[in-house]
Amino acid sequence: MPSRRRGRRPWASEHPELDLERARGGSRVEHGPDGDWVVRTVGAANATKAYLCPGCRQEIPPGTAHLVAWQQDHLLGPEAAVGDRRHWHTGCWRHRGSRR
Ligand SMILES: [Zn+2]
Repeated sequence: MPSRRRGRRPWASEHPELDLERARGGSRVEHGPDGDWVVRTVGAANATKAYLCPGCRQEIPPGTAHLVAWQQDHLLGPEAAVGDRRHWHTGCWRHRGSRR
């Protein structure tokens, strides 16, 4: 029985991609228990509207840095996925898995 490879944390390799992330306009792919998500950071300067966060059901006021996420493998394709995108508080997105 093969031993588990310890010390090779898959998520540890994501940090060097920060430059690539910036080159792609701030979007990255996150692999969660609920699928693969494209996540884009929205800076405070670009947050010009109020959104309802699906994590806490509270408003994200304009001028608040947050993020927007959509499913990478949407049944109806990438355009539908972007149409279904949701705006999240950064903290709510990080903790979404533990809220269930
Ligand atoms: Zn929230």
